[in-house]
Amino acid sequence: MNFFNGTATINSDNQLEIGGLSVPELAARFGTPLYVMDEMLIRQNCRLWKQATANYGTVAYAAKAFCTKAMCRLIHQEGLALDVVSGGELATALAADFPAQLIYFNGNNKSAAELRLAIQAQVGRLVVDNFLELEMIEQIAARLKQQVDILLRICPGIEADTHEYIQTGQLDSKFGFTLANGQAMAAVEAALSKRHLRLRGLQYHIGSQIFALDSHAAAAKITVSFMATIYKKFGLTLAELDVGGGLGISYLPDDNPAGVSDLVQTVVHTIRTHCATSGLAFPTLVFEPGRSIVGPAGWAVYRVGARKEIPGVRTYIAVDGGLFDNPRPALYGSQYFAFVANKANDPAEETVTIAGKCCESGDILIKDIALPRLEPGDIIAMPSTGAYQYTMASNYNRFCRPAVVFVNNGEAYTVVKRETIEDLLRNDLIPRAWDKEHLLRAAR
Ligand SMILES: *Cc1c(COP(=O)(O)O)cnc(C)c1O
Repeated sequence: MNFFNGTATINSDNQLEIGGLSVPELAARFGTPLYVMDEMLIRQNCRLWKQATANYGTVAYAAKAFCTKAMCRLIHQEGLALDVVSGGELATALAADFPAQLIYFNGNNKSAAELRLAIQAQVGRLVVDNFLELEMIEQIAARLKQQVDILLRICPGIEADTHEYIQTGQLDSKFGFTLANGQAMAAVEAALSKRHLRLRGLQYHIGSQIFALDSHAAAAKITVSFMATIYKKFGLTLAELDVGGGLGISYLPDDNPAGVSDLVQTVVHTIRTHCATSGLAFPTLVFEPGRSIVGPAGWAVYRVGARKEIPGVRTYIAVDGGLFDNPRPALYGSQYFAFVANKANDPAEETVTIAGKCCESGDILIKDIALPRLEPGDIIAMPSTGAYQYTMASNYNRFCRPAVVFVNNGEAYTVVKRETIEDLLRNDLIPRAWDKEHLLRAAR
């Protein structure tokens, strides 16, 4: 099966074990819902990406997949760069002492405050998404008397084979300068006219959870041909090309995504071929994987509660999490798999639907999965939950976001504490004007 590439295994007590620790014991010790991350597998994936790209350029981990101080620190330990998309992610990286020079700052509507923070911190590359941003960066850089290295995000007009909500390179996209209508060329001209900007290259990102490699190849080809046009027009060779992220992972046992080196080889081969025919030097590449580094390392751990049987229709098993910790099924219809961590090798006995505890009928984590007979207190563990879950979690229904623990070689480290009711209430205010005292005073 696809889910045991890291340290996850089933031990002799019939329990799921990750990082040398029993998942039911982790559930008892840290509470549920809980996000357990296989630290070695994250590191292994970082190394896989680094090795595959060593001769061609850089890997910048896309922080939005899973962004905490410990994760930023791990990424630095593994020698990767970092891709952030907000002032919050940037602040998290800086708080973990991540070197600003190794940070790429993406995003389609960066605020003046975010840009100022990034420029003052001297992040390595600002990835400029639109004309307003180009003007704002020039203005801020001029005031701070700094030179800013930029990439231009272009929209290559490629429809990646994935869910519509996570396609980002199609013509009808909110991201980047569109190639087809000349906007991208106008952006190059505008960037070259700015005295405080240094145009280092281009960036594109066509989407996420992409299995087929042909859309990656198509985007690379179209972008190299744009680089050739830039060369003809300005005599300018762009030295960097950032090809974004997007590599898919297995969520279901039969999923069969391309591997890291397959993707890298496809992109490198396409760029090499088309650079050669256009007489361009091979650029330094930047890859921005998020999901493929951290997704497979995460296990969402829930405790089973109520059962509702509707004879002839369906059996619902409710767990103590749901769309507040994992909105992806409700958002994209994402499918997941599950193990019963305390009966890991028991044969499947019934088909059930795993429901969350939010007040939405759409709060279903898994529809129709064959599992051993479930009892209240059993522990469900869902694999491939390391990316775009904790970072997308909310406080809907005033549920507290789960804790996240890294497990490695028999040790468990809390990297995010479980949120508490006090955390939720911290920012709530009742208008002073409603105080009884205040009303009485006003009446006097
Ligand atoms: C989301 C994103 C990525 C990462 O995508 P994955 O599918 O998680 O690999 C990379 N680059 C940019 C600009 C992104 O927005």
